[in-house]
Amino acid sequence: MSPAAVALPAPPVTASPPTPPPAAHPATRLRLRDPYTLVANAVFLGFHVATAVMLAITGASWQGAGLALGAYLLGMFGITAGYHRYFSHRSYKTSRAFQLVLALLGTLTLQKGVLWWASHHRRHHRESDGPDDIHSPKQHGLFWAHVGWIMAREYMATDTAKIQDFARYPELRWLDRHYVLPYVGLCALVLGTLGFHALVWACFVSVVCLWHCTFTINSLAHVWGSRTYATRDTSRNNALLALLTLGEGWHNNHHYFAASARQGFRWWQVDVSYAVLCVLERLGVVWDVQRPTPEVVAGRLGRTDYRLPGGREADAAA
Ligand SMILES: [Zn+2]
Ligand SMILES: [Zn+2]
Repeated sequence: MSPAAVALPAPPVTASPPTPPPAAHPATRLRLRDPYTLVANAVFLGFHVATAVMLAITGASWQGAGLALGAYLLGMFGITAGYHRYFSHRSYKTSRAFQLVLALLGTLTLQKGVLWWASHHRRHHRESDGPDDIHSPKQHGLFWAHVGWIMAREYMATDTAKIQDFARYPELRWLDRHYVLPYVGLCALVLGTLGFHALVWACFVSVVCLWHCTFTINSLAHVWGSRTYATRDTSRNNALLALLTLGEGWHNNHHYFAASARQGFRWWQVDVSYAVLCVLERLGVVWDVQRPTPEVVAGRLGRTDYRLPGGREADAAA
């Protein structure tokens, strides 16, 4: 026992626990004098420049475009059905093995780790366009909501407290920490088997498209489109964004009833991710798929959100 420990008085048993500090106010601009922020932003911008330069060198082809489209669809499904509807909202259940497949697909889009993504998204729903929403276009402008917040040092770490239900899986914690490695492995595989042209289209063009189409849900889907439900936020339904993101554009529906795996509530609201989930449900790969009840679709829910997942008491994937 150290002398310092001996000298410290024991706390009174009747003392109340210390009051937790108030939630940190969101950052609203990049601290570019911070070397870490500067390097991260340079890498992010450099990826765009490198993609443009390599594209100019290798040129276009139908095969390249087809590869990029295939990679885009797989990656977007990993983001929408995996990172978003499963890991952030637990809107259906699946096995531990398929949970890992979903995490891996999302990871290959270089949108950081699965625990990072889902934990920050849960905060977005809790604060929805309020002062503490980390990417609200209403609060901080369209650019910040689209891409600025991602490059802020304040949000580069995983908010583990909000994702404890999935952070208990060691394979997910590993993927979250080493999210770049699967992508590097894929690049090596594509380069070694299909060559440089395929690498540029499948691993660079697709990733840039995946980034910005996903980001539109944080930016444009809160300012452009119609509002069916009077949620407390500014979320919108937008058919074009829904097509680009395999169903995520029905964002007003989603903010109204985020527990649902189906985001296109009406038959004409195309939701490709949900359609694929229905097939996977038939195959027994996923189950307990949450859907909006007629009461929800009619707007008679009487509340504007639902209880977010993430507590220790929440049950986990089987
Ligand atoms: Zn969500
Ligand atoms: Zn939103």
